[in-house]
Amino acid sequence: MVNLENWFFNYNFWSFSKHRLWNLCKRYYYYRYIGTALKKSPNFDIYKVKRLKDLNSKYALQGFLIHEIIENQIEYYCNGIELNEEGAKSQFTQRLDQYRKTAPDILTEFYNGVPLDDAFFNTIHEEGLEKLKNFFGVIWPQFKELEYLKHEDFDKFKIEDVEVIVKVDYVCKTKNDLIVITDWKTGADYEEYENGLQIGTYVLWVMQYYQKYPSQIRSEIAYLKTGTIRPYEFTWENLVTIKEKIIEDYTMMNRSYEIENYPTNSAPAKCISCQFGTICPDSKIREFLGEF
Ligand code: SF4
Repeated sequence: MVNLENWFFNYNFWSFSKHRLWNLCKRYYYYRYIGTALKKSPNFDIYKVKRLKDLNSKYALQGFLIHEIIENQIEYYCNGIELNEEGAKSQFTQRLDQYRKTAPDILTEFYNGVPLDDAFFNTIHEEGLEKLKNFFGVIWPQFKELEYLKHEDFDKFKIEDVEVIVKVDYVCKTKNDLIVITDWKTGADYEEYENGLQIGTYVLWVMQYYQKYPSQIRSEIAYLKTGTIRPYEFTWENLVTIKEKIIEDYTMMNRSYEIENYPTNSAPAKCISCQFGTICPDSKIREFLGEF
C-alpha cells in the first residue's frame, strides 16, 4: 500500500512540464513527482530522491537563466525603471559563472559523471548574450506599447475536475482589448504538437481568468534565437482536443502510485540527463560514459 504525504494531494495538478516528463520516461516521472512524496519506500532512499530532484539539466541552464533575467527586468519595468540590456547581460555572465564553478553538484549531466567542459559554458555564454540582444533590440520594442497585465505567475485553473497550473511568460493587452500571451523560447522551433499543447493550455487559462473567447486572445511564441514571433491560432475543436488530452494524461498519471506501474524507458542520451540516473536500476549512464 502506497503511503503519500498529504502535500502530494495539494500539488497534484496537471502541468505541461509533467506532461513532457510523463512522455519521456514514466519512471523518471515517478521518482520526480511520486517518489519525493512517499512516506517510506523499500525501493530507494527518499531523502536522496529529494536531493536529486533539485539538479538541473545543463541543456536547460541557458533558458532558465535567460528567463530569470528577463523576469527581473520586467519586474523593474513594472516599477517604472527602464530595461537595462547591459545590466542584464552582465547578470547573465555572473550567474553563468556561479553555475560553472559548482556544476558537478548542481547540473545533472556533470553530477552523473560527464567531465566538465569549458567549451560548453563558453558556447552557451556567447549564444545567451546574443539572445538577450534579440530580446532587448527586436522583441521587447514590440511589447512596450501594450498594456502590461502580468508575467511569470503561477496560475491555477480547472478543466472539469483536473487542476491545471500554468506559468505564462508575459501577458498584456492591446488597445482593442485583445489579450496577448507570449512565451519566450530560447530553443529552436521544432516541436509542433508540444508547442500547440503548451500554448493552447495558456489560451484555456485566459478564457477562464479573463472571461474571453479564443477570438479575443492572441497567443504566440517569441524565439530569442532569431527574434521572430510565431503566432498560434486555436479553433474551438483544437481547444476541446487539448482539454481531452489533459484529462486523459491526468487520469493515466493517477491510476496507480505503485512503482511497478511506472516502467523505465532507458536510452544513454536520455538517462545521462535524468536527475535519477544514479539510482535508477535501468539507468544507461554507464553506457553513455563508455564504462561497461
Ligand atoms: S535513468 Fe533513464 S530509465 Fe531510469 S528513470 Fe531516468 S530516464 Fe528513466
